[in-house]
Amino acid sequence: MLMQRKIRKAAVIGSGIMGSGIAAYLASAGIPTFLLDIVPSTLSDDEKKQGLTLDSPKVRNKLAVSAVNEMVKKKPCPFFSIEDQQWITPGNIEDHLPKLAEVDWIIEAVAENLEVKRKLFSKLQACWKVGTIVSTNTSGISIDEMAEECSTEFKRHFLGTHFFNPPRYMKLLEIIPGEKTDPQIVSFLQEFATKRLGKGVVLAKDTPNFIANRIGVYGLLITMQEMLKRKMTIEEVDELTGPIIGRPKSATFRTLDMVGLDTFASVAANVKGKLSDPMEKKTFDLPDFLQEMCAKQLLGTKTGKGFYMKD
Ligand code: NAD
Repeated sequence: MLMQRKIRKAAVIGSGIMGSGIAAYLASAGIPTFLLDIVPSTLSDDEKKQGLTLDSPKVRNKLAVSAVNEMVKKKPCPFFSIEDQQWITPGNIEDHLPKLAEVDWIIEAVAENLEVKRKLFSKLQACWKVGTIVSTNTSGISIDEMAEECSTEFKRHFLGTHFFNPPRYMKLLEIIPGEKTDPQIVSFLQEFATKRLGKGVVLAKDTPNFIANRIGVYGLLITMQEMLKRKMTIEEVDELTGPIIGRPKSATFRTLDMVGLDTFASVAANVKGKLSDPMEKKTFDLPDFLQEMCAKQLLGTKTGKGFYMKD
């Protein structure tokens, strides 16, 4: 039975690949959604006053943000940035956090980094109202570690909701309760995500990278190790891991371009850091070519350069 709880408005923090996709998905389900991000540190006085539009070269993750824009054009919804007719508003994200008191569900989708997420949650606690669900879209960082410094009441409302990329097409949603999460909130979100959002929900334990990424990241890394051993090309690997096995578009390296190489590196490092067996740990080493690409910011779709996007 769906409980009395309602999601009338939501907020997504982090307007990157996933945050913008999740926000667009919620908006298309008829849930007004605020989409927040940090403001670039290099704003001129005019930009500080007026904010930035999508045309500005300072707007990060243009592709992802325009996806939301498209969605909003089709079905206008009160996105935070639409209200103001600008995507990045002046001031710090802190200036906008009070808006979060209006929402029933806050989804965090900032960089895959424990410290960044922890800092955000301690800021959030200050403006969070009891009753609002807070979830993280982490790919695999421990839910309990993330909320370690938060109050018990906050922890009761906190859990993982791991959407897959792109949220609009991927049906799977992993729900990961923390040790202190209120079971009623878990049941509510399970039902809400299934019935209202049309997701296929799987409950996962708070273990490194949960279920899908624990398997998926391993599979991608083993594929790369085999490729190097057999001196194969990227195109050959994608040929074999794409259409032939029934994945028309999302073969190995196309997937990595879409995920973001930096995010993939963090997700692999997360499991590696939790393993004790040295042999098993080694499986999660990033190949040199991938590390070099990260260092050069060849991160895939998000930077416009990756395996398939070249100068
Ligand atoms: P991204 O790099 O595309 O976007 C991250 C966004 O967070 C950026 O726009 C950045 O400006 C913003 N940000 C960073 N610190 C912030 C802060 N303190 N406050 C507000 N905004 C901040 O990353 P992404 O791929 O969208 O990943 C977001 C989360 O979703 C990560 O936890 C990631 O592991 C997870 N995830 C990613 C994928 C994927 O395929 N990329 C899939 C599932 C889950």
